[in-house]
Amino acid sequence: MAKVFIKKAAYHPPLIHDLVAEMFDSMGANWIDRGSRVLVKPNLLLPAAPDKGIVTHPMICRAVVQYLLEKGARVQVSDSPGIGSFRKILSETGLKEALEGLEVEVKPFENSIDIDIGEPFGRIPIARDAIEADVVINLAKLKTHAQMYLTLAIKNMFGCIVGLRKPEWHLRTGVDRIMFARLLVQIYQAVAPSFTIVDGILALEGQGPGKSGQPRELGLLIGGENGHAVDETICTLLGLDPAELVTSAQARSMGCFDGHVHVSGDIHIVNDFTFPEMNSLSMGPASLSSFMRKYMLQKPVVDKKKCKLCGECWKLCPAKAITTNVHGVQFDYNACIRCYCCLEMCPHGAIRAREPLLGKVRRRLTGS
Ligand code: SF4
Ligand code: SF4
Repeated sequence: MAKVFIKKAAYHPPLIHDLVAEMFDSMGANWIDRGSRVLVKPNLLLPAAPDKGIVTHPMICRAVVQYLLEKGARVQVSDSPGIGSFRKILSETGLKEALEGLEVEVKPFENSIDIDIGEPFGRIPIARDAIEADVVINLAKLKTHAQMYLTLAIKNMFGCIVGLRKPEWHLRTGVDRIMFARLLVQIYQAVAPSFTIVDGILALEGQGPGKSGQPRELGLLIGGENGHAVDETICTLLGLDPAELVTSAQARSMGCFDGHVHVSGDIHIVNDFTFPEMNSLSMGPASLSSFMRKYMLQKPVVDKKKCKLCGECWKLCPAKAITTNVHGVQFDYNACIRCYCCLEMCPHGAIRAREPLLGKVRRRLTGS
């Protein structure tokens, strides 16, 4: 049975250090040998201060790195951010300062190797450093996600797809949320982290996972060897049936997880967490698709007052569905695959997901 630990926590260095050590020690941490190469993979989505609730807090990264160094491991910290230079991310997130004085290699993922993750995707490029490390430690952030509902342990491994290959895989799975969830589960299985810690001390609720979300203090660190068990436990803590989290539902249907979890620690149910609004990504006969996509399906919209016309969204949109004219940013909702990369990456929090009125009416009438 998979074990999951929940600890009440705050960002105080001695406390975090002790909690991280307690979590690892309670699992035996027998996967860390002296001299083994350990890759630590935090969530470094974009340049954002830790109080925005967007990136894994640098204090947690430091505590984990310190623990691994004390065990004699050779440690590397890496991610492949969505936007911004890695150097800028290190300084704005405070990670550079946090890791000062520690013998650790900090660098972005750069090279990939093709790994067969199974049908239907076959061989896909995954960061070489993640595949070749002896041990991978997954340091995820507890955040909402406009496309996938939540981004936790499983989704964090999508960061092992290097740079611009991420939008390519969004495009390949298209509007099919289930297919994208399968891809995420298969990437997680291929990288196979030995341990996951999810930073839910300062979480992100609402229109996450980027700057449109709202930081929310939950004061929780959640850890375990099995990322699926960690994710399902977090769903339960947030009052969400794990079957409603599409990555968890897919993991079960693919036989990656049997749902048996032993939870210990400070179990604390959060009753008022704000999830993003979600509806189906595709529906109805093809002949009506264009109308439905525009007037009934949830879609990205821009807040013109916040938009600085920086160009990040149209540069990264995998479907090339964003252009500009004299009225500002424009979306082609027929081309848009509702991946919400634009919402995730907008450095000014100017994009949110909105369900048109007709869609809300339909949903109320049909209950779907
Ligand atoms: S919506 Fe955001 S990312 Fe796009 S141009 Fe405006 S500020 Fe930049
Ligand atoms: S417009 Fe936004 S949601 Fe639509 S495909 Fe482009 S990045 Fe994805």
